[in-house]
Amino acid sequence: VSNLISVTEAQEHIINEFKPLPSETIPLEEVLGRVLYTDLYANTDLPSFTNSSMDGYAIRSIDSVTASPDHPISLSITLDIPAGSDPNTAISKGQAARIMTGAVLPEGADTVIPIEDVKLAANHSDYGSSSQAILTHPIKPGEYIRFRGDDLIHGTVFMKAGKEITPGDIGLLASLGIVEVPVYKHPKIAILATGDELIEPNQLLEPGKIRNSNSSILAAIIQKYHGNILDLGIAPDNPEVIYNILHYAAKQSVDLIITTAGVSVGAYDHVRNIIQEHGKVDIWRVNMRPGKPLVFGNFQGVPTIGLPGNPVSAFVGFMVFIVPVLRKLSDLPPFQRRRFFAKLSERVESDGRESYLRGHVGYENGEWNAKLSGHQSSGNLVSLAQANALLIIPSGVKSVPVGSLVEVWPLTEDI
Ligand code: AMP
Ligand code: MG
Repeated sequence: VSNLISVTEAQEHIINEFKPLPSETIPLEEVLGRVLYTDLYANTDLPSFTNSSMDGYAIRSIDSVTASPDHPISLSITLDIPAGSDPNTAISKGQAARIMTGAVLPEGADTVIPIEDVKLAANHSDYGSSSQAILTHPIKPGEYIRFRGDDLIHGTVFMKAGKEITPGDIGLLASLGIVEVPVYKHPKIAILATGDELIEPNQLLEPGKIRNSNSSILAAIIQKYHGNILDLGIAPDNPEVIYNILHYAAKQSVDLIITTAGVSVGAYDHVRNIIQEHGKVDIWRVNMRPGKPLVFGNFQGVPTIGLPGNPVSAFVGFMVFIVPVLRKLSDLPPFQRRRFFAKLSERVESDGRESYLRGHVGYENGEWNAKLSGHQSSGNLVSLAQANALLIIPSGVKSVPVGSLVEVWPLTEDI
């Protein structure tokens, strides 16, 4: 097994073959999870006007200085300012304005008293000159006021290139009226399943045939990581047909071609030879489990990865080698993924290759625990479906006892 290349070496080689994609401008509704292409500058102050953060009364703090329970001060309510209105009247000495949350602070006022802290001489909803707001204690200037520019100052950078856009970012963009956003383009990825035994998921099983599950798995991960899919369907184990399809894909300006199966040492495994003949094979066979018989190179100049045929191997191969590439295409840090350690609640055997085992991780009694989610045969999709994490066993390790810490790569959002 000395001719196997290590996972890390293969990852580094593969990632170096890619560089970030150019930009495109897309509507605000579509930017969730996309990566910002340029720094963005505030086109206004936020808030863009000084306003009240409470329903209450806007006053001049100086008018309240001598207020006390024994010597209350009474201010005439001369103005009513609902949210959305533009008060063009000031308040002056001895006056107050009834003001709603988010409404413009009137000229003259420098503080707000919440409605709960004010006694009214007249009907609450009334604000005519007969209505009086009665203060029983002094109010400091600047209370319950959101000043213009408190949140963001016009002309400053509020979002940096390279940021993955979150719902919070989208709110900020909306509040600034930015409805077209420059982001990194999504990669276009061709996927091709190969194998004489394959039929489509919507076809009835016949003797010797199995349904193509790899393409569905790959399409789903590509979708999850925001790639565009060019689905090339199924090719038989026929070199000429496979060549023709790959040649077609290479002409479609895809950023990556992914094939599955036909890269092992079987009599009908043609994919590696085809890539070799019409491009270059840089990597073949990686010291990992599952996923050893993996090919990486280029077909007619287009980066091409030949993943193994077994569905779990194809899945793991994609996660380990292609997810970092997708991150790099959007200029994200190459291999930043959520990983942590969990305590094994069962003994785990490996074979010394770097292993990515289907596992189930849960938080019990104040700690993270991990166990296998089922049989680890690389054709076994049930244990993949039941896994919420991959458990990573380093190369060289053949057995991990109960209670050891194992590195966990979450596959779902709930852990
Ligand atoms: P191969 O790499 O061609 O030897 O395939 C390895 C195993 O993966 C075989 O059992 C294949 O039948 C299976 N396989 C290959 N392609 C697919 C696919 N697209 N979907 C599900 N299983 C597949
Ligand atoms: Mg085959």
